[in-house]
Amino acid sequence: MSLVNCSYCHLNYDDSSGIDRNIHKRRHKKWQQVEETLHYLPRPYAQREEMKIQAYKLIREGKTQKEKIQGCMLLFRAHFDRSLSAAIHNNYWKKHPSFEQYVTMMDYHESVVPEDIMKKIRKKYPHKQGHIAPYFSYWLCPDTTGRNQQFFQAEKRERKKTVTS
Ligand SMILES: [Zn+2]
Repeated sequence: MSLVNCSYCHLNYDDSSGIDRNIHKRRHKKWQQVEETLHYLPRPYAQREEMKIQAYKLIREGKTQKEKIQGCMLLFRAHFDRSLSAAIHNNYWKKHPSFEQYVTMMDYHESVVPEDIMKKIRKKYPHKQGHIAPYFSYWLCPDTTGRNQQFFQAEKRERKKTVTS
């Protein structure tokens, strides 16, 4: 075993294994293709988690509205990177929305982002419904089981809320 972590495509793999080296080669090539096309690469998991911690801190403890908005934009960015990473992994990244489009599609629960902050953001990024279900953060291809299930689950949750409240 000779574990390596690629600093470019962030894969952990066993450099002494031919199978692993091939998996890495394919992934590395794909990431290069993504960068050439999008001029952008999503940040790796650990970095995204740090961004989320920082984002929640700014949203909750930010001293000004501007700071809270910054926190929210950082949260969008962390979730966007995760969504795009999944799209790269599952080979639909060419269809994935841009960051600006993604923000218009997202619908955070008000316990995550307070309403007044979201109102400000919506001025620049008006909400476009029907792309990402409420409180979800993965963009999935239209007319796929994944997308349909996401909206089905969101509806189910909505119905439950109506019954109990
Ligand atoms: Zn690599």
